Amino acid sequence: MADLGNPQNTVAVLQKHQFHFQKKYGQNFLIDTHVLDKIIRAADIQDEDLVLEIGPGIGTMTQYLCEHARQVIAVEIDPALIPILEDTLKEYQNIEIIHGDILKINIHNIVQEKNQGKPIKVVANLPYYITTPIIMGLFESHIPINSITVMVQKEVADRMGMGPGSKEYGALSLAVQYYAKPELVANVPPNCFMPRPKVGSAVIRLVRHDKPPVEVEDEAFLFKIIRASFNQRRKTLANGLNNAGEIPLTKEQIEKSIQELGFSVSIRGETLDLEQFAALSNLMKRKLQAADNASGLSGCS
Ligand code: SAM
Repeated sequence: MADLGNPQNTVAVLQKHQFHFQKKYGQNFLIDTHVLDKIIRAADIQDEDLVLEIGPGIGTMTQYLCEHARQVIAVEIDPALIPILEDTLKEYQNIEIIHGDILKINIHNIVQEKNQGKPIKVVANLPYYITTPIIMGLFESHIPINSITVMVQKEVADRMGMGPGSKEYGALSLAVQYYAKPELVANVPPNCFMPRPKVGSAVIRLVRHDKPPVEVEDEAFLFKIIRASFNQRRKTLANGLNNAGEIPLTKEQIEKSIQELGFSVSIRGETLDLEQFAALSNLMKRKLQAADNASGLSGCS
């Protein structure tokens, strides 16, 4: 099969199938063999690996992945691309194409069935409109993952390594730092895609930490707090947490927790680093447990 990293071959496939790009699906297909080579090298795919590709498009990167991995599972949302993928990938025996939405399919089942629960590698040129939910979802759902090598918007790549004090700093920065070590593989200009995106892109590799860098009693609670803090960036941390509705402490209890950590009640969430969010989460969790215990006791008397 012709290498789809070559723009002429991509154009030929698009014409053959009379494919029309769908903006709503963030379709910008890679047309640069050097970038594809770099992604494959950075992903460090071995013969025994199972690779999950999110959004294979017409199968450009999928071809490269099939050449290196034991098995590739590619999840594509656009029904118009399924017959194209069946055509462009027909020579490969180690590909399974799933028509579906990556945010809805059960990846745990795939890992269990196809890789006996052993860690997989994720490789993708991500649809930019859902980069954050995809990456946070992969981490937070604790799918066994060895590494994630993905193309993202340059600005999002920058955000991943950021700490407090930068306007790019946010929930994604903290999730990435909690779960993995981010590494910039390459900056990729718009002319490497068809059609050209309006923004610059970057390939990043996230290698999962064996153990998170901070101790947290309840990870889901930590990320509730982090999300609530950044949902309302302009508000104080106390107001953000109080307005979130997901954190069952009173405003006074929230303010007391913030003060107990040595901060002013007027502090904003964006000034806290991962360690400080972890400390706040542990403290608030303990207050919640104490409140639960007290209400349990009073219920018995
Ligand atoms: N991998 C191809 C390449 O590099 O040329 C295409 C990358 S393109 C940036 C993103 C792909 O993700 C498109 O094929 C798009 O249809 C698909 N996509 C968008 N949203 C998706 C979703 N929720 N689940 C699965 N695929 C999705």
